[in-house]
Amino acid sequence: MTSRNISILGSTGSIGCNTLKVAKHLGDVNVVALAAGNNAELLAKQIVEYSPKLAACADEDCVSRLETELERLGASSADFPEIVCGEEGLVKAATMEECGTVVSATVGAIGFVPTLRAIEAGKRIALANKETLVMAGELMIAAAAGSGAEILPVDSEHNALHQCLRGEKMSEVRRIVLTASGGPFRTKTKEQIENATLEEALDHPTWDMGDKITIDSATLMNKGLEVIEAHWLFGLDGDRIDVIVHPQSVVHSMVELVDGSVIAQMGVTDMKHAIQYALTYPERLPNALPPLDLASISELTFEDPDLDRFPNLAIAYRALEKGGTAPAALNASNEVAVRAFLDGRISLPEIARINGKLVDAHEPESADSLEKVLAADREARSLAEALVEASRTTAAAINRV
Ligand code: MG
Repeated sequence: MTSRNISILGSTGSIGCNTLKVAKHLGDVNVVALAAGNNAELLAKQIVEYSPKLAACADEDCVSRLETELERLGASSADFPEIVCGEEGLVKAATMEECGTVVSATVGAIGFVPTLRAIEAGKRIALANKETLVMAGELMIAAAAGSGAEILPVDSEHNALHQCLRGEKMSEVRRIVLTASGGPFRTKTKEQIENATLEEALDHPTWDMGDKITIDSATLMNKGLEVIEAHWLFGLDGDRIDVIVHPQSVVHSMVELVDGSVIAQMGVTDMKHAIQYALTYPERLPNALPPLDLASISELTFEDPDLDRFPNLAIAYRALEKGGTAPAALNASNEVAVRAFLDGRISLPEIARINGKLVDAHEPESADSLEKVLAADREARSLAEALVEASRTTAAAINRV
C-alpha cells in the first residue's frame, strides 16, 4: 500500500470533489474507494471516471439508485465496483488493505467511527472532518500513537499551522493563532444577525464550502470547533490557542515562538492546496493554483473577534476547558441546531443559545472510550432537539402576542 492509494469518505462533498481534482492533477494517485451519502448521481459519475474497487453510500435505497445510474451511464455490471452501504460500508472504505491514505471529508459525526478505524489500521489520514477530532480527540490521538498513523490536517488553518511548525520544536512555541474570515456577519449589528435569513448566512465572503460549515462560519462556531481541533492536533491548552479575525483570508494561521517571532502561512483561498499538501507530504509538488498576488490584495487587516455578537466562540472555549465529553456534546448540539436553522425551524442566534445551554448543563465524563463518546453524543442530540422544540414553542407564543 502506498500513500498515493486513497479512499475518500465524503466524495461528493466540496472537499471530496476537490480531492478528485487534485488526484487528477497529480496523475499518480489511485482512487481505491469512494464513499458518499445520498448523491447517487454524482457518485456514479465519479465511479465511471475514477474506477474505484469499492463504492459506499448511505443505504440500500441509495445502492439501487447508484446501480441504475451506473447502467444509465453505460457501465456494464461486470465493471461495477463492489458496492456497500451504511456505517459498515464507510468502515470498509476506510480500512481496505490497498488504501494508504484516507481522506476523511464526511460532514459531521458520521465520519467518526470509520476515521477511528482507519487510524487504528495505521492509514495516513488527510483530515477534513474536524467534528471527529472535536468529538473524540483523545481517542484518536491515542490510536494514532498506537498504530503510527499520521494525521495531516486539511482544514486550511491547521494545515497552515502544520506547515509553520515544520522544523520547529513544540517546546519553543508560545502560542498559535488561528485566523478567521469573520464570515458574512462580521460587520453586521447584533440586530441584523438576529434577523439574518438563511440566504444571508449561506453567503460566505471568501470560501466556497458545504452548508453546515458555511453556517458554522457565520456563527463563528467553525472557529470554536477549530480551537478544539488545534488543541488535539498540536497538544496545546486553550489559553495558548488564540483567534484573530482576518477578513482577507490570506494568512491561513500563525505560530508565535518563545522569542516573539511569528511565522505565518499565506496562500490563495483554495482547499486544493491543503488537500495536495496532505496527499504528498513530506514532498511539495507544483499545483495548478494561481500564485498569491499580494499587490492586488494590497492590504491585510486583523481584528479581535467580538464574543458578544458571536457567543459560539466563547462557548467552544468553555467546552474545551470543561474537557472530557463536553466537546462531543457541543458538537452534537451544534449539528442539531444548525440542521434546525437550515430547515427553517429556528433563527440563527438560537444556535448559540442552544449550544450555550447544552454545554453549561453538560456534566462531562472522561472521553476515553468510544461508548462514552457516543453516549454523550446521543444524549446531547436529544437534549438539543428538545431545546429546538422549546424555542419554537416560545417563538410561536411570542408571535401570537
Ligand atoms: Mg478552517
